[in-house]
Amino acid sequence: MATGSIPITTLPPHQHISHHPPPTSITINNNDRYFSNHPTTLLINQCSNSNQLKQIHAQMLRTGLFSDPFSASSLVSAFALSPLHDIDYARKLFDQIPKPNVYTWNALIRAYSSSEVPVQSLIIFKQMLYTDSEVLPNKFTYPFVIKAAAEVSDTRVGECVHGMVVKMSFGPDVFVLNSLVHFYASCWRLDLAYKAFDNIPERDVVSWNSIITGFGNSDQPNEALKLFNEMYSEGLRPDKVTMTSVLTACTKMLDLKSGRYVHSYIERNGIGGSLNLNNALLDMYTKCGSLDDARKLFDKMCEKDIVSWTTLLVAYVKSEEYVMAKRHFEMMPKQDIAAWNALISGYEQNGMAKEALVIFNELRRSNKAEPDEVTLVSSLSACAQVGALDTGKWIHVYIKKHKVKLSCHLVTSLIDMYSKCGDLDKALEVFDSCLNKDVFVWSAMIAGFAMHGRGVDAIECFEKMNEDNVNPNGVTFTNLLCACSHTGLVETGRDLFKKMELVYGVLPGVKHYACMVDMLGRAGFFDEAIELIKTMPMAPLGSIWRALLGACKLHGNVSVAELASARLLELEPWNHGAYVVLSNIYANLGKWDKVAMIRKRMKDVGLKKERGCSSIEVDGVFHEFIVGDNTHTQSKSIYRKLNEVFERLKLNGYEPNWSQVLQCVEEKDMQEQALHLHSEKLAIVFGLIRLNKSQPIRVMKNLRVCGDCHNVAKLISKVYDREILLRDRYRFHHFKAGDCSCKDYW
Ligand code: ZN
Ligand code: ZN
Repeated sequence: MATGSIPITTLPPHQHISHHPPPTSITINNNDRYFSNHPTTLLINQCSNSNQLKQIHAQMLRTGLFSDPFSASSLVSAFALSPLHDIDYARKLFDQIPKPNVYTWNALIRAYSSSEVPVQSLIIFKQMLYTDSEVLPNKFTYPFVIKAAAEVSDTRVGECVHGMVVKMSFGPDVFVLNSLVHFYASCWRLDLAYKAFDNIPERDVVSWNSIITGFGNSDQPNEALKLFNEMYSEGLRPDKVTMTSVLTACTKMLDLKSGRYVHSYIERNGIGGSLNLNNALLDMYTKCGSLDDARKLFDKMCEKDIVSWTTLLVAYVKSEEYVMAKRHFEMMPKQDIAAWNALISGYEQNGMAKEALVIFNELRRSNKAEPDEVTLVSSLSACAQVGALDTGKWIHVYIKKHKVKLSCHLVTSLIDMYSKCGDLDKALEVFDSCLNKDVFVWSAMIAGFAMHGRGVDAIECFEKMNEDNVNPNGVTFTNLLCACSHTGLVETGRDLFKKMELVYGVLPGVKHYACMVDMLGRAGFFDEAIELIKTMPMAPLGSIWRALLGACKLHGNVSVAELASARLLELEPWNHGAYVVLSNIYANLGKWDKVAMIRKRMKDVGLKKERGCSSIEVDGVFHEFIVGDNTHTQSKSIYRKLNEVFERLKLNGYEPNWSQVLQCVEEKDMQEQALHLHSEKLAIVFGLIRLNKSQPIRVMKNLRVCGDCHNVAKLISKVYDREILLRDRYRFHHFKAGDCSCKDYW
């Protein structure tokens, strides 16, 4: 967004014109004086639109003037290069000229080099070399051929042209040499760019700008700053282009100090004032995290465009100044889609998915701008986070209705949204409709299967991916191992883990080790899990110990739990979960002294536990419940229904799982509090009241679901003949006819 709009031009045509005589001046003596002073030719320069030029063309055809190479060339150049610019027409004219002169060739090569099809420059250049031995490229040909090679990032062609330049007799020309610096820099060959730069006998500002921009955009932005200082000590006066590139470098390094220095340098030397440069400064302050500087600069700017406004908007969102962000957004002279996106994706990435969707719905209603891919991807991701299936479906319909091009990115987002909202069939439908699936599309589908406990399908999907010759990446393997872990496919998991580096060349990272530890631990292979941790090439992060601790909880393994929680608390002393798991394990074994000790330590550290919260979407509105919640407007009927449900379940063999009370300290500390007030139970009961029998009850919980709630959900699905989808922090539970998709392996 903001950076994209900052021109990183090293070869803007107007700049070079000021350094070099315009091509017209060298052609004056090329041809017959009579023609160059011919009234018709002179008229060309006075045309103000292409219709007038076309009239002149007609006139020239009638009088025979068009058969004169010089006059015809003037017309071609006028079409190709003048502000009127009609390159296709220029090309048609060009093809009619039997013997174009060098000036005409150059005009066309130059025009194409900054067109949308720069490769045409190269094709015409080749034609020039092979079709007419009398016309030789000159020093005005090469810079634009090199520019075209840079545009298409064709190193081979560029190097050939470089070779030709060396052999040419016109000696070191700074214009040509500058274009070579730019060329190598655009092809990411900064070593060669620097060599070319170093070989320029007399460097001008453009030479410096080319090399500084090259380094500024590379992964060595500090070199750009060094070069800037060198330029300064050589006594050259930097211009706006230099400063923009230096700012890009500061932004890349997130170096606020240098950024501020550059800002003051610009002001002291009177280089500032341009909109682009100010926008670059705004971008630097935003990305380097100084909202204050950004706001001050914005207030001082006399000229602002949509980029300036959007950049400050991004700065507000990034600094979590949401009220200011919203006010700024409303003050914007024009709210284009980039501005909406800044808000939507800003909220979404800061974990405020609900707020992101509020803005998205506002956009939908206002019709002020058309959602683009960024909007749709961010909003789909927000839907996935909160389980907003209705909004997610609306987006899918929107995509179909507006024939939005289904990029792999969008397909991935749709699959992710449907899987996380519990509609795996829809996810599959989207997946099947995508013809050219990239690695992310495949990985998203594998993740969907994993989440829903369909490990075998996940593995099958991976096999199809192999048949399709799509190479898996780290994400694919995380999802695959997760699928194995969720479904207890230990043997397959071990095998995949072994193969990932050997066969697929994907280095296992911390996430993969965490999946393996989780998988082995759940299956009870504690020794193997600990051995694996010992062999890890990197330091085990909290996630590794958390996985091991989770397995200990499942199996009640005290000794390993003590080890894992000790390590985990060394890394994350604030980790509430580690204390909870450990205290649960001790409590289950009746070691009350240890339980008391842990409770005391938690109090000493001042830990607050994360509160369990479940939500359910009914008619597009989210209803949230916490344990024992009585704030809901329909609270009374919810509790009435809850009692009825438990009466009916008891008749069907339900027995409260009291041991779960201890396991559920995640939700409450006090044992007295009744099990059936857990937030997910309240949400499910609310769903029973408000949803039709045909609608599945979809509940989202922020923590892991407890055993008793799991059991109750199974029973409700049978006794009330309802489908329940419960998404907890880790996975989906799909309850139907008394069974859960996880087959009680979770
Ligand atoms: Zn529960
Ligand atoms: Zn389950």
